[in-house]
Amino acid sequence: SSIAELDATLSQCRACPRLVAWREEVARVKRSAYRDWDYWGRPVPGIGPADAALAIIGLAPAAHGGNRTGRMFTGDRSGDVLFAALHAVGLASQPTSVAAGDGLRLYGVRITAPVHCAPPANKPTPAERDTCRSWLAAELQLLRPTLRSMVVLGGFAWQAVLPVLAAAGWVIPRPRPVFGHGARRTLSGPDVPDLDLIGCYHVSQQNTFTGKLTPAMLERVLRSAAESADL
Ligand code: SF4
Repeated sequence: SSIAELDATLSQCRACPRLVAWREEVARVKRSAYRDWDYWGRPVPGIGPADAALAIIGLAPAAHGGNRTGRMFTGDRSGDVLFAALHAVGLASQPTSVAAGDGLRLYGVRITAPVHCAPPANKPTPAERDTCRSWLAAELQLLRPTLRSMVVLGGFAWQAVLPVLAAAGWVIPRPRPVFGHGARRTLSGPDVPDLDLIGCYHVSQQNTFTGKLTPAMLERVLRSAAESADL
């Protein structure tokens, strides 16, 4: 199947009762600033080309960001930081991502997450993470022939992605690589191209407002990931 088919099937998923209830409740009640919006209120698929060489792995959609616009990191503060940096290093056609149809194009980059539905307090449970794992596994299977590097935003995504990478054919070293900003490992496997796995603090306001993650730090990670993906 194609990545477009995967995205379409994913957006119908109702496997996690707590997240289905929450995403739909948020879409019904809305935030007053967005009361004229028709919220997406469903699982948010990844964005970017099916032959991406670089994958960026977030955590989960934001209630009034991706869950509203239907596009990863679109319409929230985390996305403002991420897309500005992607544009600064030449990986996105524009520095903002406001809504589907805004003309955004990503160059060789696919942005996705281990959990595709907005969780209460931005915290999915381990069970929800495990339930959603099969979607990321299917996506990585499709990306595998062209994928050369991966930027993982935050420790939760790092923990979530390692077993998925293992299932897709990359050998995870023991002891397992530990998350950190700038942590870096090249993963290999008998049937897969080498993949540079790179850690980066998450672009959440908690990190960007406090200066734990600055635009320069993020751009440095993205530029280095793009280089290792030949972008
Ligand atoms: Fe389905 Fe993933 Fe959403 Fe759970 S989090 S309902 S598995 S798309």
